[in-house]
Amino acid sequence: MPLIQLENVSYRYNQVTALSEVSLQVQQGEFVAIIGPNGSGKSTLAQLLNALLLPSGGKVRIAGITTADATSSEIWEIRRRVGMVFQNPDNQLVATTVEEDVAFGPENLGLPQKEIRRRVDWALEQVGMTQFAGFEPHKLSGGQKQRVAIAGVLAMEPDCIVLDEPTAMLDPQGRLEVWETLTSLHKKGITLILITHFMEEAAQAQRIFVLSQGKLIKSGLPHDIFSQPFLKEIGLRPPQIVELAWQLREQIPIPPHIYTTEALVNWLCR
Ligand code: ADP
Repeated sequence: MPLIQLENVSYRYNQVTALSEVSLQVQQGEFVAIIGPNGSGKSTLAQLLNALLLPSGGKVRIAGITTADATSSEIWEIRRRVGMVFQNPDNQLVATTVEEDVAFGPENLGLPQKEIRRRVDWALEQVGMTQFAGFEPHKLSGGQKQRVAIAGVLAMEPDCIVLDEPTAMLDPQGRLEVWETLTSLHKKGITLILITHFMEEAAQAQRIFVLSQGKLIKSGLPHDIFSQPFLKEIGLRPPQIVELAWQLREQIPIPPHIYTTEALVNWLCR
């Protein structure tokens, strides 16, 4: 059974149709990226995945539970299983120390103190923030704050984390820190759904979904998505390295599956 399954899902905010007839599946353990121009419905889709929004039409199923029919305890279970990380780290941290912040979710689950301690220590270790446990969150850098926000989700022991532009407000160092955290979590089996406007980030995912005007216009492997000119038609630029490979291909037979700097360098050096 797929962890996430959308069947002909539509969503309307009063007069605005934000999503229309979107069908997709995500399996446990996958790392997928969602890309699309501003206003294409990415954030709406993210919020449908943990039942912050319920569809106006069609079905969203999380681990087999249809969100629109879920009881309130099932809704909480969906939110525990599918955690959300948003763009602005300052809006996500609520407590006066890092460890209190990470403990917030498990405390709301009513878990025993010993189990809360175990989860907080484990989650901080996963994001490399153990030595900041006693720090005040507002004294951290943007990348560190986002890692604490991710730890807060991890402390709920989720199956999946949906990240809505988690690096958009970070400097290059912060982006790198968050990126390394995400790749390490994926290796440990956590399902990741990353909404991003950084095409270089999307290129590292296993699969990419492309939204335009509320419709899922394409899904596939990164090289399928980036080897076609349609991205430019909807106002997205492929990663710089893909554009460079296109230009080089006029002279050198670079294969189509090359879409990262590392792969291009390796191929050219060989
Ligand atoms: P994206 O994340 O791709 O920028 P969104 O899901 O935020 O797209 O928005 C999709 C469409 O829904 C846009 O036309 C946007 O203006 C509209 N929209 C988003 N949120 C609201 C809201 N709370 N009320 C009314 N319209 C909204």
